[in-house]
Amino acid sequence: MGEMAQKISKVDHKELLDILNTAFAEEWLAYYQYWIAARIMSGPMSLSIGEEFKEHAHEEKEHAELLATRIIELGGTPLIDPNDWSKAAKCKYDAPTDENVLAIVKQVLTAERCAVARYQQICDMCFGKDYQTFKISAQILEQELDHEQDMEDYITDITKIIQPA
Ligand code: FE
Ligand code: FE
Ligand code: MG
Repeated sequence: MGEMAQKISKVDHKELLDILNTAFAEEWLAYYQYWIAARIMSGPMSLSIGEEFKEHAHEEKEHAELLATRIIELGGTPLIDPNDWSKAAKCKYDAPTDENVLAIVKQVLTAERCAVARYQQICDMCFGKDYQTFKISAQILEQELDHEQDMEDYITDITKIIQPA
């Protein structure tokens, strides 16, 4: 960690690295949830939703990259063993055992709401204390809010197809 970087940070160092690694683990699980769901789900709109899921998977991977870069800058180590991802993650990964598109979108919505809360929490922790981590977290938060909205919209649309007014 750079000398000035250490001097300016007013956040508890260990606490910050822990939560960044929690988020890092959650991002890889979110990536995989989208990646696998895009390929196995079926039902109304599943083709178009699958394309959106592939884009979201890409965005989750970018979040993991942003977090890894910041963890390293702060003198930490991103979790190097995938076995640790599900242990570190506090947003639960729900395996899509039901391939129905509505069931999957609901699972993803739960994960996205957890992600929104996670980045709100990191922003709160860093606001006025660590501008760089705050900036990255706010940037990720913006996309997670978008992901949450997308899932809510899909649920509305699928429900209309299943039960026309
Ligand atoms: Fe993400
Ligand atoms: Fe997301
Ligand atoms: Mg989207």
